[in-house]
Amino acid sequence: MKEACGVVGIVATGRDVSYLCYDALYALQHRGQESAGMATFADEMITVVKDNGLVSHVFSDTALRALGGSMVIGHTRYSTSGSANWTAAQPVYRSAGRSGFALAHNGNLTNTPALAEAAGISVSSMLSDSDLVAELLGHEVEAGASLSEALGRVLGRAEGAFSMVVLEAGAVHAVRDPHGFRPLCLGRLGTEDAPEGWVIASESPALDVVGAAFVREIEPGEMISVTFEGVTSTRLLAPAPGAERLCVFEFVYFARPDAYLLGHQVHTARRRMGEALAVQSPVAADLVMGVPDSGVPAAEGYAKASGIPFGYGLVKNRYIGRTFIAPTPNQRAAGVRRKLNPLRENIAGQRLVVVDDSIVRGTTTRALVGMLRDAGAAEVHLRISSPPFAWPCYYGIDTPNRDELLAATHSPEQMREYIGCDSLDFITLANLRGAIGLGEECCDACLTGNYPAPTPVALGGAGRW
Ligand code: SF4
Repeated sequence: MKEACGVVGIVATGRDVSYLCYDALYALQHRGQESAGMATFADEMITVVKDNGLVSHVFSDTALRALGGSMVIGHTRYSTSGSANWTAAQPVYRSAGRSGFALAHNGNLTNTPALAEAAGISVSSMLSDSDLVAELLGHEVEAGASLSEALGRVLGRAEGAFSMVVLEAGAVHAVRDPHGFRPLCLGRLGTEDAPEGWVIASESPALDVVGAAFVREIEPGEMISVTFEGVTSTRLLAPAPGAERLCVFEFVYFARPDAYLLGHQVHTARRRMGEALAVQSPVAADLVMGVPDSGVPAAEGYAKASGIPFGYGLVKNRYIGRTFIAPTPNQRAAGVRRKLNPLRENIAGQRLVVVDDSIVRGTTTRALVGMLRDAGAAEVHLRISSPPFAWPCYYGIDTPNRDELLAATHSPEQMREYIGCDSLDFITLANLRGAIGLGEECCDACLTGNYPAPTPVALGGAGRW
């Protein structure tokens, strides 16, 4: 699985907002490494800088200084919809209105063909679902609507996941879909009595890094509009039945451990997942180790609850930037070796409990277990901090088709045999919810098949078009 974009929006008079946005995007780099971009408003003009690559590659000091302005939006991208090349990098710009507008999106729309068809647009002419939303907004604005009105009309017809920031002359708007699949929060620069600016970001660590205080999460269906006069909140979209459905994998895997989501710290939730797994699925072993990064806090929790020593068994190469597409099992196995290397002296002769966050196709897990055995592990007992991943995600995460998901085509015992471990168990949904401290507020469609919003079934596949 791959993360699916991070977004930032900042309004702050007298501050170098492009530099603040750079720091915030840097804190969200884990959400997308394919491309990065920024749009600022200054001198009645919107300027966009974007390119393929990591945040540190895309923005030079010269570019950040040139961007200027007091309003900015930013984006880090992993493509779940449309092209992965430069032209689909975000923010997306349209020239409609006083100075045009720019848009950055985290999520995935599930009814793009219907949206395009209704507007007489050829879906194949659009670079991504974000490009289509920008085109539809542009039509509305050219027909006389304000950008806020256009957002209400266009996103009112959109289905799926969207946490979006939009920059126009004199305002930054932030909108979250009625289910709140992807996170989005608001922070404040300065004090409550004397605010100096406002920051919107996918995850709270992006607020911390620019010195902004966390104010609150943006509600599902809410639009926050920030101008130089302050912040206003509008109920743009009716809340979905059953309301909030934040992606449960934000807790399991995607979000930073220091992020707070719905008031719960991600690291704490991961540690508790491990504790629950130790009670649910004990085993006699010498060492508990986690698969970096998100498996490590869960492994610490397993060790604490089981009394088995915690240790490190894998070293991760942190300098792998753009993710390689590895279409064959052999290439995926090579990808595992490129990323992880065993600590042989910690592993040799040991009965290992290995805690990982998920199994999707199973090819990387199988390669990982083979690597640990080659390093001399006496036994490998795999414990997974999410239930079996048996359904594709249509809400902004890049997953394979159902027939490529190991849990959709194999029984638990067949999965264990394929992976080659001595024992295998997955946390139950009840224990996962208990560890997070949330229940129905989280989407778990890829674990249960209970999709809270329409899926693009007519398209087949995993939400691509
Ligand atoms: S289907 Fe799974 S990955 Fe997708 S939003 Fe729901 S919980 Fe997250």
